[in-house]
Amino acid sequence: MPDSTKAVLMTKNWYCPNCSTTHQSQGPKVATHACAAFNGLQLPMFLEGSGGYHKPVYREDYIGPDLVADEVRTGHGKIVSAVSQEYPDGSNGLVVIMPCAVINTEAMGR
Ligand SMILES: [Zn+2]
Repeated sequence: MPDSTKAVLMTKNWYCPNCSTTHQSQGPKVATHACAAFNGLQLPMFLEGSGGYHKPVYREDYIGPDLVADEVRTGHGKIVSAVSQEYPDGSNGLVVIMPCAVINTEAMGR
């Protein structure tokens, strides 16, 4: 008689469409990796067969000095503020990256 008290863990196959990294895992966690195509940003991977892709969201709402890590700056100087996970069915996920902005409080009169 089979032992029905043992949990069966499915192996999940993950991939990154940008840098071709693959990974296998078990359990509920989403696999992540330091994506070489995004200067090493820690991004979630996609389940095999999902057909998803990463779409960068560039910061557009701030002009001034900032203290951002090198990995959020593209070769063109743009700052990646988020990376969207886009799926063929129209659903998506979002990884928000919080670059540090500098605020001059003296210029604000405080
Ligand atoms: Zn990658």
